[in-house]
Amino acid sequence: MRILTLITALLVVSLPVRALEVLTTIKPLGFIAAAITDGVSEPKVLLPTGASPHDFALRPSDIRSINEADLVVWVGPELEGFMAKPLAQHPHVLTLTKVPGMPLFDYSKQAGHEEHADEDHDHDGHEGHHHEGVDPHIWLGPTQALVIAQALSESLSAQDPANAERYRANLLAFKAKVEAKDKVIAGQMKAVNQKGYFVFHEAYGYWERHYGMSSKGHFTVSPERRPGAKTLVEIRKALEEKQASCIYAEPQFSPAVIESVARNTGAKVLLLDEVGEQVPLGPDGYPQFMQQLADAFAECR
Ligand SMILES: [Zn+2]
Repeated sequence: MRILTLITALLVVSLPVRALEVLTTIKPLGFIAAAITDGVSEPKVLLPTGASPHDFALRPSDIRSINEADLVVWVGPELEGFMAKPLAQHPHVLTLTKVPGMPLFDYSKQAGHEEHADEDHDHDGHEGHHHEGVDPHIWLGPTQALVIAQALSESLSAQDPANAERYRANLLAFKAKVEAKDKVIAGQMKAVNQKGYFVFHEAYGYWERHYGMSSKGHFTVSPERRPGAKTLVEIRKALEEKQASCIYAEPQFSPAVIESVARNTGAKVLLLDEVGEQVPLGPDGYPQFMQQLADAFAECR
C-alpha cells in the first residue's frame, strides 16, 4: 500500500505538464507577462510589430491564438474594442481596467481640459478636444505597471497553483527592478520636465503625471482620428511663441501634418513609441521600455 502511494506520488510529480500559455494584446503587457512567467513559460503577443491597438482588426489566425491561449490579458474595452467579442466566451481573461485597486484616470478630469473646452468654442465635436472616459494607457504608468504585474501573478497562481511560488518570486523581482528604474528615470526627467512639448495622441498621461512632465497638448485624442484644423493652428502658434520646443511623432502613425506644423519654427520632431516596438520581448522588457520612453522624453532639451 505504502509503495503504491509512493509510486503514484512519483508519477504525479514527473507527469509532463504543458506550460500555461499567456497571450497579451500589446507588447508592453507582454513585457510584464514575460517577467511574471519567467522560468515557467513565455507569453505571446497578439498585435504584430507596426500595429496599433487603436485601429487593429483581428485576422482568423488571431481568433485561433485567442482560443488556444490559457489566459488572455488585455487592457479592456476602452482600448481593444476588437477583443470584446472573441473574449466573451473565453474562460480565463484578465481585464486590467477592471482590476480592483487599479489607479485609473478619467480624460475629462485632466487639468487643462476645461480650459481647452472654453477656449475652443467648438461644439461640433470635430476637433476632438472633448475626450471622455477612462484613459486606457495604463501600461505607461510605473505605478499601474506594478498593479498589472500583481494582478497577473495572482491570476496565474490561481490557474496554475503548482508554479505559484515562482510567480510570487517573479513579482517581487519585477517590483524591485521597476522601482530601481523609476528612481533613475525620476532624476532623468527632472532635468527636462520643464520643457514644453506636444505629443501626437493623448497617450502619455500616466507617465506625465508620474514624472511631472510639461505636455502642452496633443494633435489628436486618438490616432485614428485626424487632427482638427483649429488644433493645428494652435500648435503652430505655440511652437512659434516658443511655448513648446518639440513635437513627438509615433512609429505607427507618421502623418505629414506633424512635419508641416513644425516647419520653420525651430521645433524638434522626435519619436515616442507607446508600444515599445524596438524593445525585445523578455523578462527585462518592461524596465527597458521605461528607459526607452525616458530617453525619448529626455531628447527634448
Ligand atoms: Zn494610444
